[in-house]
Amino acid sequence: MQKTLSIIKPDAVKALYTGKIIDFIENKGLQIVAKKKMVLTRKQAESFYEVHKEKPFFSELVDFMVSGPVVVQVLTGENAIEHYREIMGSTDPNMAEEDTIRKLYGKNIQCNAVHGSDSSENANTEISFFFSKLELIN
Ligand code: ADP
Ligand code: MG
Repeated sequence: MQKTLSIIKPDAVKALYTGKIIDFIENKGLQIVAKKKMVLTRKQAESFYEVHKEKPFFSELVDFMVSGPVVVQVLTGENAIEHYREIMGSTDPNMAEEDTIRKLYGKNIQCNAVHGSDSSENANTEISFFFSKLELIN
């Protein structure tokens, strides 16, 4: 069993897609073992997306990520990291495959509904960024 970090981003929370996205995730066989709703500080968002700090879209991305509440979850399942990336769909919702979260609920390449860890190293870092061991159901 593998763990991955999911964020339902401000665009999707604002549009009341949280419940639908949670349903989608659970129906695809991933389990939610931790969850919190929060508003990120600018410092937290900058630190979370540090790998992108040289990208032209970085400051807009940070503005977007602090623009409203997010729902942060730890998902578990077989091959959870790759499985969740698959059901999220491509970064750009316009390019996303049918029956993916971003195709169904994403607006554009920035407001694309969800985040998912992209490697086991990043999953561990991202999970520890938001959750203590105590907060994870085993
Ligand atoms: P992913 O979330 O699919 O792993 P990236 O790690 O490349 O994608 O980018 C992180 C986030 O930055 C994306 O989910 C999206 O919100 C935003 N982003 C990526 N590319 C662009 C872009 N060209 N313009 C604006 N925002 C972008
Ligand atoms: Mg990424």
